[in-house]
Amino acid sequence: MSASRGYGRAAVTGGASGIGRAIVERLASDGFDVVILDRNEALGRSEAEALRARGLDVDFRAIDLTDESASRATIRALSPLTALVNNAGIFDDRSFFEASTDDFRRHYEINLVALAVLTQEAARAMAPGSKIVNIASRAYLGAKSHPHYVASKGAVVSYTRAAAMELASKGILVNAIAPGLIDTPLLQVLSPERRAAQLALQPTGAAGRPEDVANAVAFLVSPATDFITGQILFVDGGKSLGGTSA
Ligand code: NAP
Repeated sequence: MSASRGYGRAAVTGGASGIGRAIVERLASDGFDVVILDRNEALGRSEAEALRARGLDVDFRAIDLTDESASRATIRALSPLTALVNNAGIFDDRSFFEASTDDFRRHYEINLVALAVLTQEAARAMAPGSKIVNIASRAYLGAKSHPHYVASKGAVVSYTRAAAMELASKGILVNAIAPGLIDTPLLQVLSPERRAAQLALQPTGAAGRPEDVANAVAFLVSPATDFITGQILFVDGGKSLGGTSA
């Protein structure tokens, strides 16, 4: 990895695909040295190579983030980070009565526990002014389906607030983004009917783009947010407003 262009090093989990990939491209374009942490080795390597070919400073580490000791060792090796973006997550669209205890455990393990491990380890070495951004979901407000996902993202919101309170005195700022429907491979688990039903509830009438979330992350890791912590920023085209068009 080459020397920083001034913004320092950012680690982006789940950066091989979808929203994470757009975050990597945006932060690298803004001047961060970016490290992708993702279990999808083929995709992660090719994304990093493609961005490096464009002159951006992007590296890739293959890792399953549910492996706690590997996660801690990786963060220690990359520290100090000036930004950590906890974006990796999973989503299964099982109904309330279909959701199993295993669904709850799997979703908590990656969506919450892995995020907490990375945050704890990164924060030990972060300097004042460093930023942590957690990708939650608008779904944390509640949904009739996939209760395991909804609850795991609610936990991300609560954890973000707890981490913000603990880390404020160290000058480390922690915020979350709650995206609505964003067009990525994650949504392939939705049947065409379920996808149409979700879009019908969308005030803007369309899903968002990964870049819409990346723009919000770029804001939250910028000096513009040096007095903002523990906040949840909705990037959902207005869906969290709760109304319909009627
Ligand atoms: P995505 O396209 O599936 O990308 C997620 C990436 O994270 C994938 O490369 C995935 O690898 C990786 N990952 C998952 N579990 C991992 C683990 N244990 N270790 C390492 N890497 C892991 O999903 P996305 O739509 O960009 O979602 C990114 C985040 O946004 C997630 O937290 C999601 O909950 C949140 N979000 C998405 C939407 C949306 O509409 N898309 C809405 C709200 C919130 P694999 O491909 O191997 O799984």
